[in-house]
Amino acid sequence: MGFVDLINVKKYYGRENPIPAVIDFNLSVEKGEFVTLLGPSGCGKTTTLRMIAGFETVTMGKILIDGVDVTYLPPNKRNVGMVFQSYALFPNMNVFENIAFGLRVKKKSETEIKKRVEEMLNLIHMQEFAMRYPHQLSGGQQQRVALARALAVYPEVLLLDEPLSALDAKIRVELRSEIRAIQQKLNITTIYVTHDQEEALTMSDRVVVMNKGMIEQVGTPQEIYNNPKTHFVASFVGTLNFINTKVVDKNKGILEVAGQKFDIGRPLSEFAHEIITVAIRPERFKIIPDENSTNSLEGTVSKVTFMGAIVRIKVKLGDSVVSCDTFNNPSLELPEIGDKIKIYFSKEDLLILSA
Ligand code: ATP
Repeated sequence: MGFVDLINVKKYYGRENPIPAVIDFNLSVEKGEFVTLLGPSGCGKTTTLRMIAGFETVTMGKILIDGVDVTYLPPNKRNVGMVFQSYALFPNMNVFENIAFGLRVKKKSETEIKKRVEEMLNLIHMQEFAMRYPHQLSGGQQQRVALARALAVYPEVLLLDEPLSALDAKIRVELRSEIRAIQQKLNITTIYVTHDQEEALTMSDRVVVMNKGMIEQVGTPQEIYNNPKTHFVASFVGTLNFINTKVVDKNKGILEVAGQKFDIGRPLSEFAHEIITVAIRPERFKIIPDENSTNSLEGTVSKVTFMGAIVRIKVKLGDSVVSCDTFNNPSLELPEIGDKIKIYFSKEDLLILSA
């Protein structure tokens, strides 16, 4: 058992024609862990988070926090703190009073409130903003205050619902590491919702990839990125080339594309089909071989896009077009459209996702 456990949780909206929003959700979050629910719009992330907070009822299943069944407890009895995308600060209260709010509800003494709010202001580096009102703050500052307000009451679990989505790109990146640093400092168990894969990969101990109300895969950011278990995870997280290939030798794992053979390095006996799809990340292709290059394919350059740090070269291989990302460097001679090009890769980098 973990610190937060969801056991066979289901959520259906509506009575007449119930719509499933979350289906058979099982997850165990450890104490101090930062877990992110990642998935496209409508996949059930927010519903799951709101069920943990107690803002949404559970249709079936159980939610435990620190071993206690909280499934039917109201939000204020669950000891969780929540931060929303919209900040939801009280506009008529200054920063101090916003942070103090939960402590006043809990009838803490003035001395205790002052001490705790100051601790929180230090934590978010906003000591000098105590007397400001929300409308006098930037979006990023408002979200830090919302975080401080959620943390002020010593919650056991912190829930964040797309807290950075309303902010501009630069602040978003800054706040990612700030939130993660605060979470680690307090060692607070955190469940974070986002549809932004970069956010999920950079901030989390583990990522839960969701699709259509169900969990597709749970794993560390590296596991999710390097070993996606399903087609959905592979295409939702990062960029991936899918190549349809003909099976030449099932036992040896030899495939063919555009009349060229390559070795996948493992038997393919579990696949019944003669055509299988393999996948490879654009950055795993090399235009200059290295020590891991066990295979190569020749194709024709169909597009070259300079993107700053990297250059994306599109290469036509028979009916497929693959993207190949290479680091930009001043000595790199860029190919031109129509050039023949050899792309190199390692058999280790090939993913077989489906027959
Ligand atoms: P987003 O990123 O857009 O917020 P999400 O992954 O958080 O999406 P949810 O908001 O949890 O997804 O919604 C899951 C499903 O439940 C969707 O199909 C949505 O339309 C439906 N849904 C959510 N809230 C309600 C509601 N109050 N009544 C009926 N259906 C709802």
